[in-house]
Amino acid sequence: MVSLSSVLAFWYGHYRRELPWRETRDPYRIWISEVILQQTRVNQGMEYYLRFVDRFPDVCSLAEASEQEVLAMWQGLGYYSRARNLHTAARQVVSQHNGTFPSSYEEVRALKGIGDYTAAAICSIAFDLPHAVVDGNVYRVLSRLFAIDTPIDSNQGKKEFQELAQKILDIQSPGLHNQAVMEFGALACVPVNPDCENCPLKLNCRAYELQLVSQLPVKAKKTAVKELFYTYLYVHSGDEVVLQKRSTANNIWKNMYEFPLIEASQLLTPEEVVCHPHLLEIGPFTLNPQPIDFTHLLSHRKINARFYKIEVDTVSSFMKNSLITTLQEIHHYPIPRLITRFLEYFCAV
Ligand code: SF4
Repeated sequence: MVSLSSVLAFWYGHYRRELPWRETRDPYRIWISEVILQQTRVNQGMEYYLRFVDRFPDVCSLAEASEQEVLAMWQGLGYYSRARNLHTAARQVVSQHNGTFPSSYEEVRALKGIGDYTAAAICSIAFDLPHAVVDGNVYRVLSRLFAIDTPIDSNQGKKEFQELAQKILDIQSPGLHNQAVMEFGALACVPVNPDCENCPLKLNCRAYELQLVSQLPVKAKKTAVKELFYTYLYVHSGDEVVLQKRSTANNIWKNMYEFPLIEASQLLTPEEVVCHPHLLEIGPFTLNPQPIDFTHLLSHRKINARFYKIEVDTVSSFMKNSLITTLQEIHHYPIPRLITRFLEYFCAV
């Protein structure tokens, strides 16, 4: 009987996408691609991957870079802790492994920011070690093939799916097998309306047989979204503007740069901004009472952002951790996508 794994490998050989990180077995490049692709679509991630490995072609060049430069390369991808962890782990590889990427699962798993999934992906693809990957695509494929309704976000579900993935892993070609399951989930066994009639696994698929495809996989909880209210002060004189560095105490965008921020339980009105203590520090100013509002969504946050343009005669670094730069130089600093959105809008009007 033809095994599940060989059907997937055959399918993968015919339908897989040609992607730059699939042309290498360099663990460093596989690691970078895996981290970029967490929470990022392939099309968007590809551009970042190519730029990242062009600027940092190996683990030593990444370790030698400054955090600011690494964050700037990551700008727009979001989840900046991923970039910080990459940087820290690169330094670990240099200090603990003399700059050579480790080749055992335990050593790879011990690097900063590398969890079970990423360690299994790197070790199976780069070194053919028999570790099964379980990502969102794998959860979906396995839950449907075996009609498992254990919630994938429960401890029991994680254990059950990891064990199943390991059980069906082709230990002769674990890298190929892992990539085939993930690609099959990404392209064929998609979340909504998969083309089951033409699926090469439909005769093996319990969910198809039981007409449960649209009900699987099961998730137990919805992600709670926290709402934030950010009022930004775009303080400028001509092209000169004030930026402020976020502190490491912030939950999001640590060490990145934005405009001076007033965070409150609501967005501020022009009258409230004019009276705000921060404004006492900037000297004579003219506030444009027509703010620009954006809603910015992150996975666990909804940010209601309001930007006030405040013109001054002479810009000064009036808030803690603030600095003066120009619109031309601003992109040398790592800035969140929300700030870029404002600048794109502002420069377009
Ligand atoms: S038959 Fe449908 S649900 Fe089952 S594996 Fe194929 S695409 Fe997925």
